[in-house]
Amino acid sequence: MGKLTDIAYYEWAYEFFNRELFDGNLPTVRITLMPNADYAGQFVPAFRILNLNPKLFPHFQHREILATLVHEMCHCWQQRCGHPNPDNDHDEEWAGKMLELGLRGDHWAARAIVPDGRYDVAFQKLTVRAAEWESEWREQQRRRKQEERLQRQVQRRREVRRQVERKWRY
Ligand SMILES: [Zn+2]
Repeated sequence: MGKLTDIAYYEWAYEFFNRELFDGNLPTVRITLMPNADYAGQFVPAFRILNLNPKLFPHFQHREILATLVHEMCHCWQQRCGHPNPDNDHDEEWAGKMLELGLRGDHWAARAIVPDGRYDVAFQKLTVRAAEWESEWREQQRRRKQEERLQRQVQRRREVRRQVERKWRY
């Protein structure tokens, strides 16, 4: 499935969890997928960058990868709605938010999902919508490519016309 490697998918998932789990209170962030040796995910408050490490994708289940996304979103939440933590580390307020969402504060989120907790329920809802999102997204991509192709054809025609006009002048 293409969606696991497309940033657009994680942007969509971010917005989805923002609505479902954070009442839409989180700001827009830039999602990146940069390989990293040390972190499964990382939130950089100064640049509002949320990075997920694509190296973990082959090893983690989908629900674990998205739990990592929500883990980072809890850091973002603390910066925006709680008491910003200068080290952005795992303090009590952050861990409390995680627990409220049915996640335990563990960077290797694999063992940290509480069954039927808020995250678990939201994740199940997301997977139902994901198929719909994916087909809409593919349709958009297809239309954009078609648009670009048409644009190129129009440009080529204009170019030809310009050349013809130039010839006529001489
Ligand atoms: Zn963390």
